[in-house]
Amino acid sequence: MKLDFSGKTAIVTGAGSGLGAAIADALSAAGLTVAVADLNEDAVNAKVEEIRANGGNALPYIADVSDAEAVENLINDVKQSAGGVNYIVNNAGIDGPHAMPGEYPVEEWKKVIDVNLHGVFYGVRFGVPAIKASGGGAIVNMSSIFGSVAIDASAAYVAAKHAVIGLTKSAALAHSKEGVRVNAVGPAFIQTPLVDNNFEEDEKQGLIDATPMGRLGKPEEVANLVAFLLSDQAGYVTGSYHLVDGAYTAQ
Ligand code: NAD
Repeated sequence: MKLDFSGKTAIVTGAGSGLGAAIADALSAAGLTVAVADLNEDAVNAKVEEIRANGGNALPYIADVSDAEAVENLINDVKQSAGGVNYIVNNAGIDGPHAMPGEYPVEEWKKVIDVNLHGVFYGVRFGVPAIKASGGGAIVNMSSIFGSVAIDASAAYVAAKHAVIGLTKSAALAHSKEGVRVNAVGPAFIQTPLVDNNFEEDEKQGLIDATPMGRLGKPEEVANLVAFLLSDQAGYVTGSYHLVDGAYTAQ
């Protein structure tokens, strides 16, 4: 099945690294102009150069998704420069501290919720009107397996990822008739800097051992699902949560 989005534009947040970078690649390969948005300017520039070197169209944007005004400006800027915005992938996220709820640092709780939940809300809040004004499209919000199950030591992450699914359902109920489909994706442990930088080697082996498929996922295995969910091939898919987890949550 070849996905074809020719002539349309997508915004991918957190596109400088890991899953966002792989999603930007997949969408570019399917013909979309990709607005590569991230906090990290060097990573944005490198990704844009790479996409262009591969024959794709990419535009660089530096934005902090936890800042509502920055997200509104990002979406307006892309709409103006590209002539419209049809797709948004609210992917940017952070891991946060590994601490039990009874010991979780309060300021870090706020930061994780700001990025992983409020950041997704701002993408929906300002993305829906832009997509409607551009003739319709779709949004994918990045949740996690921790949108439906939990671990003890990452309560802020687990809470935010559960809430992203609730937000996704509300947005789909409200806006699917208006031409904006909204879905969430739930990866298990994927080989990205988020996993590499936050887990020791023995902990990583623990993640692999906890996954029935016996390996970490690859970023492109998530990116392919996101590209499908955005595409017209998924025209009747909205308001749902799609696991990509090597059977982790089937246990
Ligand atoms: P990553 O750390 O490799 O990349 C995240 C990117 O987001 C980075 O480029 C970072 O600069 C950017 N970013 C962080 N905070 C930002 C902010 N406030 N505004 C804009 N950009 C910001 O992480 P990843 O593994 O690619 O994770 C991407 C998303 O996927 C996150 O939402 C994460 O929770 C989710 N996820 C990851 C995994 C996994 O195993 N890697 C599993 C499930 C869900």
